Amino acid sequence: MSYGDWFQAHGTKHKKIIKKLKHLSDDELIAYFRFDNMVKHEPDFCPLYKDNKKCHDNQALNCYFCACPNFRFKDKGFELQERRTLFSYCDIDSKDGNQYLMEEAIHQNCAGCFVPHSEAYIKKHFTHDWFQAMNKVNRNV
Ligand code: SF4
Repeated sequence: MSYGDWFQAHGTKHKKIIKKLKHLSDDELIAYFRFDNMVKHEPDFCPLYKDNKKCHDNQALNCYFCACPNFRFKDKGFELQERRTLFSYCDIDSKDGNQYLMEEAIHQNCAGCFVPHSEAYIKKHFTHDWFQAMNKVNRNV
């Protein structure tokens, strides 16, 4: 699945959940997106849920802003960097971010970064509209 396809599919799932929960306050909505609750009530939201597996080993993992408003991707690639195509990067150059360096490709590796998963970050950038929150992520257009 391409970045673009995942982005569209994931945003659509997020939208559906928000619509279903429109009776909740913002704080209740954020709490609903905690990993432990999402695994139980939204099994289709993330492929890792079926194995009760977290993308980040952190008790406070919240899935509201998966992927991350700071992620940037382009399915055709941004540029060549020493014979490798750069397909994604972190716009804030997070100190906890990294890169997957493949033979011909570079992808952003967010495995060590918790920025978009903390509730303090989610509250600061809160919007019901996931596509709005992620409006700089998809650079295909
Ligand atoms: S490294 Fe962190 S802040 Fe940067 S795109 Fe990845 S999750 Fe977001």
